[in-house]
Amino acid sequence: MRIAITGWKGGTGKSLIATGLANTLSKKRKTLLLDFDVDCPNDYLILSISPKKEKEVKIKIPKFNFSKCTKSGVCAKVCKFNAIVFVKGRYPIFIPDQCNGCMACKIACPSKAISETEKRVGTVYSGKNKNLQLIFGDLKSREVLSEFVVEETKNFAKSKEKDFVLVDTAAGTHCDVISAVKDCDLALAVTEPTQLGAHDLKLILELLKILKVKTKIVLNKSTIGDKKLIEKIARKFNVEIIGEIPYEKTILDSYSKGEPIEHSSIDKIVKYLIKK
Ligand code: SF4
Repeated sequence: MRIAITGWKGGTGKSLIATGLANTLSKKRKTLLLDFDVDCPNDYLILSISPKKEKEVKIKIPKFNFSKCTKSGVCAKVCKFNAIVFVKGRYPIFIPDQCNGCMACKIACPSKAISETEKRVGTVYSGKNKNLQLIFGDLKSREVLSEFVVEETKNFAKSKEKDFVLVDTAAGTHCDVISAVKDCDLALAVTEPTQLGAHDLKLILELLKILKVKTKIVLNKSTIGDKKLIEKIARKFNVEIIGEIPYEKTILDSYSKGEPIEHSSIDKIVKYLIKK
């Protein structure tokens, strides 16, 4: 069973809940946790895992041979990502950070002055904590091509699937989140009982409805704020709240120590997942 732990807003406790669930679940079933928050993967820190580098994520980028270049400017015209600047009579200027590796410039160049080279955009890591296996992608600093790192991490994890695969997504409703949740059997939308939490919950529930992914809600910090805000949205979308994580010192202590939370509220969600 593949379960996404997702949410529109950062800081709602997705990683805390994903690692807590993965840790408890791994004591009963073979579990793989995928951290797809490639901009800021931190599940390995909460789980005290020393990550092992598995593979580099590279994309193709153009390499210009100016001895062949006739300064036609065609490469800059076809580049939809503004990665090539052309001034008439000058050689094109290539901006690697803008390039997404489509290689349209190579195909279009009339003088065959462009070949292919590579650049690293990220790395895939893995690690283990007792029965729990973790795989995550890490986007290289200053890189923006996170979708390539998510896809490569997904491909790498394919052969390592276990009874349960938990997917900790990035926050939001962007392409990386869609790519992470679209193949899941169930999504847990994590939220908190605040106006902002309610607003963000609506957005993620709308996305999951479009993607036709079966969804349940997990309410974090359930003992503070206004729970009715979330219950109202749950009713509107006809989505059940299957778990409530209280705002408790023991949970905050685990969080500050960098340990997965072990709590009866997590056990309850795990029981629900095993029954499914
Ligand atoms: S590979 Fe694509 S994005 Fe990169 S410079 Fe060429 S046309 Fe632009």
